[in-house]
Amino acid sequence: MKIVLRILRHLLPYKVHLGIASLAMFISTLFNMATMVLIIPFIDTLFSKEYPTLQPVPEFSLGNLKDWGLTQINNGMASTDQSTALQILCVLLVGMFFFKNLFAYTQTWFMAIGEQGIIRDLRQMLYEKMNTLSLSYFTEEKKGMLMSRIISDVQLINNSAIAAVNSFFRDPPQIIGYTVVLFVIDWQLTLMAFLLIPTTGFILTKIASWVRRESGLLQESIARITAVLDEGLSSMRIVKAFRTEKFEIAKFRKENQSYFRTFVRIKRSSELAPPITETLSVLVVVIIIWFMGENILSGNSSMTNGLFVAYIFALLQMMQPLKYFGQTMNQLAQGMAGAQRVFGVMDIEPRIVDRPNAATVESFTDRISFDNVRFHYDTGDEVLSGINAEIRAGEVVAVVGPSGAGKSTMVDLVPRFFDVTEGRILLDGMDIRDLTVESLRGLMGIVTQETFLFNTTIRENIAYGEPEADMERIREAAKAANAHEFIIETENGYDTVIGDRGVKLSGGQRQRLSIARAIYKNPPILILDEATSSLDTESELLVQKAIENLMEGRTSIVIAHRLSTIQKADRIYVIDDGRVVETGTHRELLENQSGLYTKLYQMQFQL
Ligand code: ADP
Repeated sequence: MKIVLRILRHLLPYKVHLGIASLAMFISTLFNMATMVLIIPFIDTLFSKEYPTLQPVPEFSLGNLKDWGLTQINNGMASTDQSTALQILCVLLVGMFFFKNLFAYTQTWFMAIGEQGIIRDLRQMLYEKMNTLSLSYFTEEKKGMLMSRIISDVQLINNSAIAAVNSFFRDPPQIIGYTVVLFVIDWQLTLMAFLLIPTTGFILTKIASWVRRESGLLQESIARITAVLDEGLSSMRIVKAFRTEKFEIAKFRKENQSYFRTFVRIKRSSELAPPITETLSVLVVVIIIWFMGENILSGNSSMTNGLFVAYIFALLQMMQPLKYFGQTMNQLAQGMAGAQRVFGVMDIEPRIVDRPNAATVESFTDRISFDNVRFHYDTGDEVLSGINAEIRAGEVVAVVGPSGAGKSTMVDLVPRFFDVTEGRILLDGMDIRDLTVESLRGLMGIVTQETFLFNTTIRENIAYGEPEADMERIREAAKAANAHEFIIETENGYDTVIGDRGVKLSGGQRQRLSIARAIYKNPPILILDEATSSLDTESELLVQKAIENLMEGRTSIVIAHRLSTIQKADRIYVIDDGRVVETGTHRELLENQSGLYTKLYQMQFQL
């Protein structure tokens, strides 16, 4: 029930549109039902042996609604001749269908806004929510899951919410309307017919709850497909290099097949609802016809031809809304399952949030200090076990150590990609958790090993996030990053669109572009994870020079792999197993012949 209320809250902004749509739907339904009333005089006009004459109208009351109505129709016909009555009826019929359809279309017209509006809003909210989640959330599996939330779960919610709103103003009024007509014409018969309805209802709810369960499996399956797809397409280069296409195709086939199987199961059972309802309804209708027929044949019935046809017509007409109602129940079941998953994502508490009264930091003047910092990821053991370190303004500080020692984790704590588990990190004496995340990250430029470029122009990649960027500054940044030369040689210069993740560029070019991006941002603090993969000598020199330009006049924390960076560093922290084991300059550290640094240095540079 809480979920239904939550969905309704998202429909609220569209209440005017939905209101008009529902009203139009209701009016259209009324016109549809009114056409039925026309049947009685139609039949009686054409097939009665005696044409009606004027009769006294009985007192109006609920009890004699039928007599009153029939006399009114009778007198209406009596006041004109048979042929004119037929003409009037024909015109009325066309008019009613015209208005029925006019209002039906009005309904669709307004509903479209509500329908697409809720999809748009939910997708937007989800995407905004995802942007607040901490980095640790985005594993491959979760990426697939999140994509399928945005694409298909939202669609499910929409389908069911809209189906419910539509159905609510279309089906129940019809069901009620026809029920009234049936009761007025012959209440005993109608009562009998209705005894069968609970049976149908029971079967339908059973199907709906099953569909709901299965639809959960279906959505999980979509999530897995998306994950396989995303991973496979993003690593096409590796896939081709390792000739693992068949392996990847098999992975995809497995997920695709599992989706197929689940979908077929759901389709088969959810589509059971309409035929079951219809068969049961036909059974009811046949029993009624049989009863009525017997009565008419034996002369016990006072029904006119028109009433008889109207009764049967109303019964048959009622099947349609009953059938739709059954379908709506299934759609609702699927939608609820989708909503549960979507709201599940919405309800994740973002880890890294601004504290109340968090301060905005505008500049960095003194130092960043690690004060006995301990850290562990959600899963797993302690990665940092009491780190003390200091990075003074203007310094280049290098972090070195064996793979898995905790270097990346350590530098990730500075822009608060994660928060320390124990201890503090201070920026100019302020605990970084007391600063707004936005202003803190605003001070930092980050260049990672994986140079991520967006599938857009070189210009937009350098001035990332700034649509109205200053071309002169972009050019300056590119020059400082040694990228200008190759950029102007590309087809459209700064307006050249680079392919997905920059595949049209060489490794060194990609690195220089991402360095240009950092230079363009011009942050006081630089966090640099130097690429381990070696480039060809010429490229290497260009990148090295670009990095030097980038570090110029900034405070840099570098996970260092290049000898030149290490030699230039004001201080080196040697990390091993989550601890600082040695500190000093390159020269100082090399003095300790048996130290870890000397060992690493000799290994890495084969000296
Ligand atoms: P380094 O950069 O020195 O190679 P990392 O900081 O990447 O080391 O990793 C340190 C340890 O933390 C490793 O044991 C690694 O498996 C673990 N680790 C790294 N990232 C995560 C993560 N997102 N979740 C769980 N454990 C992680």
